Amino acid sequence: MDKISDKSSPFIYICSDSNIIDPLNTMPMFNFILFGPPGSGKGTQSVKIAKKYNLAHISTGDIFRKNIREKTDLGLKVQSIIEKGDLVPDELLVAILEDALDQHTDVDGFVFDGFPRTIQQAKDLDVILTKRGDAVSLVLALEVNDEEIIGRLLNRAQLEGRKDDTREVIENRILVYNNQTQPLIDFYKEKGLFTSVNGIGGVDEIFDNICQQIDKKI
Ligand code: ADP
Repeated sequence: MDKISDKSSPFIYICSDSNIIDPLNTMPMFNFILFGPPGSGKGTQSVKIAKKYNLAHISTGDIFRKNIREKTDLGLKVQSIIEKGDLVPDELLVAILEDALDQHTDVDGFVFDGFPRTIQQAKDLDVILTKRGDAVSLVLALEVNDEEIIGRLLNRAQLEGRKDDTREVIENRILVYNNQTQPLIDFYKEKGLFTSVNGIGGVDEIFDNICQQIDKKI
């Protein structure tokens, strides 16, 4: 590591690979919420965003599915809720989130995929991030209509066989999204953090549109 500072600016160092290290940890983390109904493409886009911006991808759905597969206490507790397409109780999410954030120390922020899903969870996220000296940086919704969503999820059911991808459960998930999750749009609009892009189109085209929004904020 080459020190490039003089006595007047003692805190800037440059690594041999030119990554700037900030010993006082003053570079803010980029905490990005990818928002949208089930089947809007959050999972696919989150992976790409995480890679491009060196963020950790936190998918609460993936965490729950892993716990169900491994038959942990949490998995057993949430399995029937998820199979009905209902939401896991808010109070279970806080510990899961804190644990997931603690597992990543070498990233520049997080992509939240599938969280928060209720106003209470959004408030909990604010508390969790504030404790770490951080905040939500941007909330971006993928806009996809119900008809397209139902088609995509039924198609995914044939490919992946997810138990919550039957027509009846899909319809419940959309209802739950409209009732409990959509109100978050106004919550984040009031904070000036909300934006959206069209979620229908090619994966790369949508990704480029998301990146344009992120680059304006970063
Ligand atoms: P999708 O976005 O396709 O609906 P996810 O993989 O994000 O699916 O979530 C699957 C299921 O896991 C949800 O329908 C819900 O039951 C549960 N779940 C995931 N995240 C949360 C959350 N933040 N709060 C409550 N339940 C959640």
